[in-house]
Amino acid sequence: MFASEMEQYIKTGGLADVIRALPQALADKLNIIDVFLPLYREIKQKDLTHHKVLDEYKLKIGSRTYSGRTIQVKANPPNIRINLVENYHLFGKRAELYAKDGKDYRDNLLRFVFFCRASLETIRNRWHDTAYEVFHCHDWQTALIPLYIETSDFFQNKKLNPLRIFTIHNIAYQGVFPKSQFLLLGIDKLYYDPKYLEYWGKINLMKAGLLFSDIITTVSPTYAKEIQTEEYGSGLNQFVKKRSSMLFGILNGVDYQIWNPLTDPYIPANYSISNLKGKELCKLRLQQSFNLTEDLSIPICSVVSRLAWQKGLDLLLKILPRLLLKKKIQFVLLGTGDPNLELQFREFAKQFPSKTGIALTFNEQLAHKITAGADIFLMPSRYEPSGLNDKYSLKYGTVPIVHGTGGLADSIIDYFTNLEKGTGFIFRPFEEKALLEAIRGALEVFNSKSKWKQIQKRGMEKEFSWTIAAKQYLKLYQRQFS
Ligand code: ADP
Repeated sequence: MFASEMEQYIKTGGLADVIRALPQALADKLNIIDVFLPLYREIKQKDLTHHKVLDEYKLKIGSRTYSGRTIQVKANPPNIRINLVENYHLFGKRAELYAKDGKDYRDNLLRFVFFCRASLETIRNRWHDTAYEVFHCHDWQTALIPLYIETSDFFQNKKLNPLRIFTIHNIAYQGVFPKSQFLLLGIDKLYYDPKYLEYWGKINLMKAGLLFSDIITTVSPTYAKEIQTEEYGSGLNQFVKKRSSMLFGILNGVDYQIWNPLTDPYIPANYSISNLKGKELCKLRLQQSFNLTEDLSIPICSVVSRLAWQKGLDLLLKILPRLLLKKKIQFVLLGTGDPNLELQFREFAKQFPSKTGIALTFNEQLAHKITAGADIFLMPSRYEPSGLNDKYSLKYGTVPIVHGTGGLADSIIDYFTNLEKGTGFIFRPFEEKALLEAIRGALEVFNSKSKWKQIQKRGMEKEFSWTIAAKQYLKLYQRQFS
C-alpha cells in the first residue's frame, strides 16, 4: 500500500485515517501488508523503536541523482510493516507535507516521483524476500506507481503482473504540474499526450492512476457515480467514465478503537448509548474551555474540518450571523486551511464573542472533545467523497446536519424524510435557504428531548465497520469483480 499519510505517523485529513485502519482490518486475511510512506520531519521526531534500514539507493531523476533509504518499522499486528522512504531535502526537513503558507511546494512533482520510484526500488531489491501480489495506490501522490510497473523492465522481464489498484480519495486533487517538468517522470515522451498524462498543456498524475491500474476504487458508492459527471468529475469525468466497469465505490469505515465515546481517552467523561450522562459533562467542559455560557439547554453547533472550498463553510458563514442573532445557540469550530476562510471565521467570532469558540489549529484531542461535547455537527460540504466526521459524530450522539452528497448521502438518514429511522438532517440543494431550513428544523427537534434522544441513539447504534469495507477490498484483491 502506498500513501502520503497515515494516522499515528502523519495526518492532514481523512486519507490518513483510512491508511491506518484498512491494513488493520485486512491484517488477518493477508500474509504481509507493507505500507510505504514518505519519512517527513514529524515522523522522524517520533520514537521509531525497532526500526531497521531495509534498503539504500541512488536514483537519477531528471539530470540529478538523489540518494535515499527505506526504513522499516513493525506495526501491530507484526505482519503490517511501515516502510518509510527517506530523503532529508525532499521530505525530512520540511514542517508541512505539501505546501508552505498555503502555497504548494514547487518541487512536489520531484518529491513524489522520488517517493514512487524509491518505494519500487526497495520492492525490487527485496523481491526475493517479499513477492507482492497487490499494489494498492492512494491518490495522486502515488498515482505514478501503476504506470511505473507497466513500464518497468523488472516486472516485464520477470513476466510479473501484480494487481494494480488505485483509490481516489478526492478527485479534486490531481497532482497537476507544468509540462517543463515532464523529464522528471523518467518516462517516454509518448506519454505526454491527451490519451495519457497530458492535461490542458500540463502533466496530470491522477490520470496515470486512472489509466494504468487494473481496478479503480473510490470511497463511497455515491461518489463513484458523481465523479463520472461533469459537475463532480473535476475535468476527469470522461476518463473515469471510460473505466466505469472497473470502478467500485467502497464506503470508508470508522476506526472505533480511536473514535468511541466509551473508551475515548481525550474526552472528560466516557459514555454510551445506555447512559448519556457523560456527554453532558463533555458539553459543559467544552463550553467552559471556550468561555461560553455553561448551559445544557443551549445547543452547540460544531465544525471540525479542513478549511477548504470543498467543505462549503462559506455557505455556513453566510447564515451563521442570522442564526446567532435570532437563536439561542452556540457555535464551535476547529479547523485550519484557507487563510481567507480563517480570517472570515476570526472576524465572525469577534462579532459574537460570548456565543462562539474558534480554534484555528490542527488538534486531534480537541477534535475528540468537540465531537463529544457538541449537540450538532455541521458538514455542509459542496462535495464529500466519503466524509468521516459525520460518522464519528453519529457514534458520539452528536447529530449531523449534512449536504446530501457523496459519502454523506450514503451514511446519514434524513429525519424529516424518515421519522422512524432518521439519524440526522440532510439538506439539498447546496443553497443558503436549504441549509438554514435544515438547521432551524434540527433546532426545533432539539427542544423535544425525547425525539432528540431517539435520533442520537439511532446514530450511536450505526456501525460503519472497517470489516465490511475490508471484505469488499479483499474481493477486489482476489480479482472477484462481480
Ligand atoms: P478530508 O479528508 O476531506 O479532510 P474527512 O472527513 O474524510 O475529510 O476527514 C477529516 C479528518 O481530519 C477527520 O479525522 C477529522 O477529525 C480530521 N481533522 C480535520 N481538521 C482537523 C483539525 N483542525 N484538527 C484535528 N483534526 C482534524
